[in-house]
Amino acid sequence: MPVLSFEQALATVLDRARNVPTSPVETVSLLESAGRVLAQPILADRDQPPFDRSTRDGFAVRAAEWSRADALRVVGQLRAGDIWRQGELPPGAAVEIMTGAPVLPGADAVAMVEHARLGDNAELRAAEARQLTPGENIIRRGAEARAGDAVVQPNTTITAGEIAEAATCGHYELRVYRRPRVAIIATGDELVEIGQRPADHQIRNSNSYALAALVAASGGDPVRLAIAKDTRDDLRDRILEGRTCDLLLLSGGVSAGKYDLVEQVLAEFGAEFLVTGVRMQPGKPVVFGRLLADRLTDPAQHERYFFGLPGNPISTEVTFHCFVAPMIRALAGAGVAGPRFVQATLAEEAPSRPGLTRVLPAHLSPDLHRPNVRLVRWQGSGDLAANARANCYAVLPEARDLHSGDVVTVLLR
Ligand code: AMP
Ligand code: MG
Repeated sequence: MPVLSFEQALATVLDRARNVPTSPVETVSLLESAGRVLAQPILADRDQPPFDRSTRDGFAVRAAEWSRADALRVVGQLRAGDIWRQGELPPGAAVEIMTGAPVLPGADAVAMVEHARLGDNAELRAAEARQLTPGENIIRRGAEARAGDAVVQPNTTITAGEIAEAATCGHYELRVYRRPRVAIIATGDELVEIGQRPADHQIRNSNSYALAALVAASGGDPVRLAIAKDTRDDLRDRILEGRTCDLLLLSGGVSAGKYDLVEQVLAEFGAEFLVTGVRMQPGKPVVFGRLLADRLTDPAQHERYFFGLPGNPISTEVTFHCFVAPMIRALAGAGVAGPRFVQATLAEEAPSRPGLTRVLPAHLSPDLHRPNVRLVRWQGSGDLAANARANCYAVLPEARDLHSGDVVTVLLR
C-alpha cells in the first residue's frame, strides 16, 4: 500500500467514520451528562422567554409617551418574580421594573434607569432628550424559542450551554449514547507496568495511561489490557481480548523492525488495511484498518476498526489527536469532524521537511489578541518532558518553510 499524505489519511479515516454504527442509548442524570452525546433533541417545554421580559432595570413605559417631553407618573414597581395584576398601564404612567421581570400589558418599551430622572411626586423624565423605540429593552415571549421547538439537536456533545438549556426546560435526565469501549494494547518486550521497578534496559508503559486519558477526553470508555510481548502468540491473545470492544488501539510494533509484528498478526486475522503509513512527522508508521466480521468462528463479532499507533509516546499522542479522536467521536454519536485546528502567529522560524507534514510540540501564548506559537525544543518523538512543556502542536505544511510572523495551523490538545 502506498504511504498516504496527511490529508489523504485524514480523509480515509473520516470517510470510514461516516458509516460506523451508532452506540446504544442510555439515560444519565443531567449532572453526569457533561461530555456525553445527546441521543434525543432537547425540546422547549414552554415559550422562551415565557413572558415579555425586561432586559434592563428601569421603567416600563409607552415608547411614544416617553419620547415626548412631558413627565410620566410612576404608579408601581415590578421585581423579577412579580406579576402585574392591575390591568393595562394607564395613559401617562410608568412602572418601575427590574431586569427579568415580566413587562405589564400596555407598556411597549423599558427606559433604562441610567437614562431616567425621578423627581418629587414620582415624576419621571428622560435625563436628556432620548427617543425610545417600541420593543426596546424587551425580549418578547417566545422570541428565543417556541414551546415544542428542538432547542438542542441530537448528536450534540453536551457542555455547560446544553446543560443550562436542558435545566431551563426542566429535564433532570437526558438520553445519551453509550460511550464506545476502546481497547488499549501496549506492545513491546522492553515495557513494564508502572507499578514495577524497571531494570536499566526497560521502560515503563506510559502509553496505556496517556491513551486512556485521551480516549476518555474524546468521549470513549478506555479498557486497558495487559502489555503484549513482541511475539505472535501474545499479540494474537491480546487482539482477541480487545475484539469485544468497539475500537482497538495498539501502540508500538508498527515500524519496520524485525520484531514489529503488529501488522503481520492483524493480517493473520484477515484484517483489511486502509492506511499503512502517512507522510507525517512524527507518526509516519501509523496503521488504520478493519477486522472483518468472522461470523463462522464467532457469530457475536462485528467489524472492528483498529489503529496501530507508533510506540514513541509523542508519535502516539499526535496520531491519536489526528486520526483516533475523530473516530471515537463518531462512534460516540457526535458526528464526523476532523481534529479542531486553529490559526495562530508563528513566533519564530519553522523549517519544513520535504514530503512530510510536521506536527510538532509547541506552546501557544495566552495573549488576548493575536496569540503566538513557539516550537518546544525537543529530542525527538520519545521526549516526554518536552511534550509535557507543550500545550499544543504546530502543524507545518509539507512544502513551505514558515517564518516568524506567518500564520500557522495549530492542533489544540
Ligand atoms: P515501537 O513503535 O514499538 O518501535 O516503539 C518505539 C519506542 O517507543 C520504543 O523503543 C519505546 O522506547 C517507546 N515505547 C513503545 N511503547 C511504549 C509504551 N507503551 N510506553 C512508553 N513508551 C513506549
Ligand atoms: Mg516495540
